Amino acid sequence: MIRPILKYGDSILHTPARPVDAVTADIVQLIDDMIETMYAAPGIGLAAPQIGVSLRIFVVDVSVGRDPAALLTLVNPEFVERDGTQLEEEGCLSVPGFNATVMRPTRAVVKSLDRAGAEQRHEASGLLARAFQHEMDHLDGTLFVDRLRGIKRDLIVRKIRKLSRAGKW
Ligand SMILES: [Zn+2]
Repeated sequence: MIRPILKYGDSILHTPARPVDAVTADIVQLIDDMIETMYAAPGIGLAAPQIGVSLRIFVVDVSVGRDPAALLTLVNPEFVERDGTQLEEEGCLSVPGFNATVMRPTRAVVKSLDRAGAEQRHEASGLLARAFQHEMDHLDGTLFVDRLRGIKRDLIVRKIRKLSRAGKW
């Protein structure tokens, strides 16, 4: 089922998410909804808080559905290693219409559970390392806008408030 994606300003997006106790049938259903919602958007990643569920789960597919092996589900993810920095333009399904350059690690190793509840480990670089960090931020209640500084951040926040007041957000 495609679920509505919450937007910047919704309190769930700005709250740290809880760990998943066990990968039950309900959690697998939630994961399937997240995947469907991500592809429908379309996006390269989606975290559970973005559809209003404050749990530490995200899905990522940097191929946007072209490569079945690129679809990853991470439950209770934790960084094991992070190296380097990359500066690239980034957007977010919860901040539609806005992009900004965000500093991210060039390489990341993440351990988590998969959709069967088994332990897994992913080593990522480039775009995937960026996606892992972006989605992990969602689980900590942080959006890319929060990573910006000064004028850049103020400009986006002011525009969002204006859209919000006009009922267009
Ligand atoms: Zn996002």
